[in-house]
Amino acid sequence: MKQPEALVALARALARLPGVGPKTAQRLALTLALDKGLARELEEALASARERISICRICGNLAEGELCPICADETRDRSIIAVVETPADVYAIEKSGEFRGVYHVLGGVLNPLEGVGPDELNLEGLLSRLEGVREVLVATSMTVEGEATAQYLGELLRERGVRVTRPAYGLPAGGSLEYVDEVTLARALSHRRPVGE
Ligand SMILES: [Zn+2]
Repeated sequence: MKQPEALVALARALARLPGVGPKTAQRLALTLALDKGLARELEEALASARERISICRICGNLAEGELCPICADETRDRSIIAVVETPADVYAIEKSGEFRGVYHVLGGVLNPLEGVGPDELNLEGLLSRLEGVREVLVATSMTVEGEATAQYLGELLRERGVRVTRPAYGLPAGGSLEYVDEVTLARALSHRRPVGE
């Protein structure tokens, strides 16, 4: 039987979300087709998110307005910057409560096989905010690409007189910060090792 085209289109769009396979997408699309109230609520939340959420002009984190809450917070220690891949990593580190510095969101990691080089990452923004910075903590994931990105930043920043560190231990290899429990993350952040010294 042929499904309504709008339903197929909705399922196709939903299937593009991370973690949503075709079967889940189909189920979600059906739910939304039947529950007009829920569809309306989602529609409004989506419109509001699209209109109000912006990118912080300093660090690349999500913001409402020009600056994210962390860059807008005068009490944060601006002498240390944690470099992360995505805003989700910022939230994970914030939840650990261990870090009082500021962030820089790269938007990914170096991945030559997928065509992600230094130009594809938010690196220029990082280089432009190094004044008064004594340490850059590279909290990219513990993958080959995350390590390569840390090494790259280590070389790039050391010649500018900035100490580059990495969370020391306890973080699972191959994992993203998002999925690390708060205690482990807090411990890894408080014990740091220098990169390539
Ligand atoms: Zn910011």
